[in-house]
Amino acid sequence: MPFISSLDKNIWAHYIPPYPDELFSSWFFRLSQAHHVKSHSFGRYYFKNQQFWNRDVDNMPSQYLKDIIFNNTPLNYSSISQLFLTSYESFLFESHNPFGRTMGILPLGIMHRKRKNNGLLFCPLCLKKHPYYRKSWRIFVSYICCKCRVLLRDSCPVCNEPIAFHRLEQGDKNKIQTHSLNHCSFCLYDLSSEYKMASSLQLDYQQKINTILHQGFTENYSYSFAYFKLLSSVAGLLSRRHTIWGRLRYACENEFGYLPENSESIDLWNIDNRRIIFEMAFKVVDNPDILLFLIKEYNLRLSEFNKDHSLPFFFENIFKSNYL
Ligand SMILES: [Zn+2]
Ligand SMILES: [Zn+2]
Repeated sequence: MPFISSLDKNIWAHYIPPYPDELFSSWFFRLSQAHHVKSHSFGRYYFKNQQFWNRDVDNMPSQYLKDIIFNNTPLNYSSISQLFLTSYESFLFESHNPFGRTMGILPLGIMHRKRKNNGLLFCPLCLKKHPYYRKSWRIFVSYICCKCRVLLRDSCPVCNEPIAFHRLEQGDKNKIQTHSLNHCSFCLYDLSSEYKMASSLQLDYQQKINTILHQGFTENYSYSFAYFKLLSSVAGLLSRRHTIWGRLRYACENEFGYLPENSESIDLWNIDNRRIIFEMAFKVVDNPDILLFLIKEYNLRLSEFNKDHSLPFFFENIFKSNYL
């Protein structure tokens, strides 16, 4: 291993730096490829008992994992932390749950080395330019790639399987896989070859979401995580019909058209249906005039919105203003 005197340590012989916004698992996979070994062997050799593919490693980094990376790369602890989804704490969500689901993070549905859910998204054109997976492709508020102006996808357009790039190295035990990360691990289709353009409206809302996420605050809702919590709970309300808690959904369908439905939790839906609900939720949360109109026309009740948690003052005040 080369010794770097300015850092006073040896680093991995074929060290490659993570790309901007790269997920730990994507970088780890590329790092193993750079060392000409399968990720399983690379992991066993350097990380001993750390599990990589039968757990959501991007969502549960251990101190041990971070220490091994720190000891073998030029990265400092702050850059290492940025590789993991926990770095969204205080921005996308208030606090990370190390033992289960955290609001805002798409669940992968891990069964051994398989993935049941479409919890990892991708932009076909980003994959074409630089085949690696971004951290922002694991979160509930990502739908559009603003750089490429295209819709994100959540499965292979040919075989419909979820993205599981670590399976690209399965097969012959002694052969290192040579496919880059833009391929489907089931049918080897090039995931970068099909894409759909986003509308200017979609680009606008995604840009706004990205700015809020980056800044950590919003003008009306103070902390960004309070805003995202509200957005997710409104999307949840819109996602199912309900005799008592379904007034908002009824109002929105009546005013703006059909909304898809599914009894599963919305973060398990496919991205195309989820996007429709999310756009509706964004319209309601982001436009006090639309919300006020719906409250008046459809006699919406505050209890529908705050049944599970307290609401930001700004949102609650829109309801109160209706009764002034
Ligand atoms: Zn892109
Ligand atoms: Zn496929």
